[in-house]
Amino acid sequence: MTTVIDGRKISADIRSEVAEGVAQLKKETGVTAGLAVIIVGEDPGSQIYVRNKEKACEETGIYSEKHELPADVSEEELITLVNRLNDDPNIHGLLVQLPLPKHIDEDRVIDTISVKKDVDGFTPVNVGNMLIGKDCFLPCTPHGIIILLQRVGIDISGKDAVIVGRSNIVGKPAAILLMQNNATVTICHSRTKDLATHTGRADILVVGIGQPKMITADMVKEGAAVIDAGINRDAEGKVVGDVDYDGVFGKVGAITPVPGGVGMMTVAMLMYNTLEAARKAAASS
Ligand code: NDP
Repeated sequence: MTTVIDGRKISADIRSEVAEGVAQLKKETGVTAGLAVIIVGEDPGSQIYVRNKEKACEETGIYSEKHELPADVSEEELITLVNRLNDDPNIHGLLVQLPLPKHIDEDRVIDTISVKKDVDGFTPVNVGNMLIGKDCFLPCTPHGIIILLQRVGIDISGKDAVIVGRSNIVGKPAAILLMQNNATVTICHSRTKDLATHTGRADILVVGIGQPKMITADMVKEGAAVIDAGINRDAEGKVVGDVDYDGVFGKVGAITPVPGGVGMMTVAMLMYNTLEAARKAAASS
């Protein structure tokens, strides 16, 4: 039997817990958690992501600010805005929606975000702190993956976890967090030889490659927990994951659907991090 890991329900639970925390923080300290989002240009995907973040802020009681800049904004103007928001006491979380236009140095912009407000967990200092297990903001998508596993009662400790994809926002941090939760971790990527040998022995398989339905039933272990971070459109324009959901269903023990799985968790964990940032700011003021 295959359990569907319901990201919709689990993310709604997280948002509701955050809403309680936001209200409690305000009652106890007078501080309203605040998130600022900077979006550059008109990329339709980015517009949808930012709208979802605004909606989640409304739902959780987090104050939100959207800063829309034209696609031809200069790097200096963007950096100036980041610095201004770094200094704004009403803003506890700050993120710059990626990707940025080609003329802007994405790394420099991310590096300018205050580590105390880096609720995406993308700054090098935050990533370094995560690697060495120090207090930090965990990046939202991989953190969401860990929460999904935990909330459905899948014990990570001692399991063979295989991750397909080694990007900075999904694969690498997911590997670190699974390792910190005592899994034995293998990371696969486009140069991996005989991918199916690795995926086929995974107790926990995390996939984030951006290749529609590439992981098929013959590549997974019976009873495995499969976490599909992929968000792709198939030939008919339907949103599908990196795993052939219908094909593996029945063989694996648990799986996240797409949509309705990992994607739902990313915004919920962003709200969680923003509340954490506000709590820390309130405690230090
Ligand atoms: P990237 O393109 O940055 O990274 C893709 C990774 O997959 C790379 O490490 C690449 O290997 C590897 N890869 C690509 N093709 C293959 C293959 N055929 N076999 C093995 N490995 C392969 O993508 P992202 O990490 O940004 O995104 C991955 C997917 O996750 C996308 O569908 C994206 O939409 C989704 N995503 C979902 C999020 C969510 O909120 N749920 C958030 C972020 C992303 P190599 O390094 O060798 O090139």
